Amino acid sequence: MCVLCAIVNALEKAKKKIPLSFSNAKEEEKKNVEERLNGNTSSSLSFVDEIINEKKKKRVDTNKNVSKESLEEELKELRNWSFDAFTYASSKDKEFPLARLFMAAFDVFANGGVGERKREDVKEIFALINREKLFEFAQSIEHGYVGVDALPYHNVAHGCEVVHATFAILTDVITEETVMDPLSVFSLLVAAIGHDCYHPGCDNATLAKDRVDIKRRYNGQSLSEMVSCEVTLELLRRSGALQSDDGLTTSQIAFVEDVVATSILSTDLSKHEENLKKNTAENAAQIVLKSADLAHFARPREVHLKWVHAAMDEQRRNTKRQVGVKDGHVDWKNQVFFAETFVLPTFATLSGNVSVGSTPMYEYAKTNVEKSRELIV
Ligand SMILES: [Zn+2]
Repeated sequence: MCVLCAIVNALEKAKKKIPLSFSNAKEEEKKNVEERLNGNTSSSLSFVDEIINEKKKKRVDTNKNVSKESLEEELKELRNWSFDAFTYASSKDKEFPLARLFMAAFDVFANGGVGERKREDVKEIFALINREKLFEFAQSIEHGYVGVDALPYHNVAHGCEVVHATFAILTDVITEETVMDPLSVFSLLVAAIGHDCYHPGCDNATLAKDRVDIKRRYNGQSLSEMVSCEVTLELLRRSGALQSDDGLTTSQIAFVEDVVATSILSTDLSKHEENLKKNTAENAAQIVLKSADLAHFARPREVHLKWVHAAMDEQRRNTKRQVGVKDGHVDWKNQVFFAETFVLPTFATLSGNVSVGSTPMYEYAKTNVEKSRELIV
């Protein structure tokens, strides 16, 4: 069964209700994370409908936010590889930091790309997408990410981090017309913003034990990735951003959905080796999203360290392995092992087969790994 069929089937079969209701209130967010982990199902709505209701409650004036002027700061952030998503996402100045960053990236490609790298075919495809509806979609997705106080790692800052890295890689990638078609460029932005929405903050093995309903719903495969994928595709459809009289064709929309689905599902690290082996032109999009998901390893040391500590904190919090481990402790041996097993091979594939490499992620990550190796006791 293909990935899309599996998701469609899962949607059809969805009888179990997943309590996914988020709010800006920190305490409520914490409670919701707990509730999801405990499998409480008080709602009678489907989980996608719950998101829609939350979106309605919290929708901001899109006329105010869609103006290009208001995204100038986000554009500046996009061009800075030293981007610190925690600082950016924690700023109280603006609502919807993730949706705004996503739209700033969209606007760059709607203009054909960056500087001399502009591509007319990208510009033409992006012109077929309804910007205002896409912005609403991005806001509805943002409701699926908790604040930085509710979860240490899989929060709105991680969403921003991955959208940012995806943008950086894509600006490299689109200089080679043969590597990435315009629809895949768009699909990757969508996959990036949606890839961890409604992440429970634990690994899939823990999720499978805690939530039998989700385990059954997705046949035990890539559980959190499947949830994010299903929500992203459903909200994209409901937004109507792609469907208009002069918009994308049905087959183009099907292509977008396929790239979004396969890219999001490829971020499941338990399938890392088989995904890397499938490294062909067709799955260039998957390598891009996998790399963006791990991109903090290639950020400046101080930014990378924030992510390392966040990952350790989340692991301690949710996997009950915290016994005897003090807060702030990092197992550097494990970090180096993780980087050598998952991160460096992914970046090597990216720089070798996909990216022209104006952001040399492999080299940057190697430097971080060597520094971490020195800390092994
Ligand atoms: Zn992620």
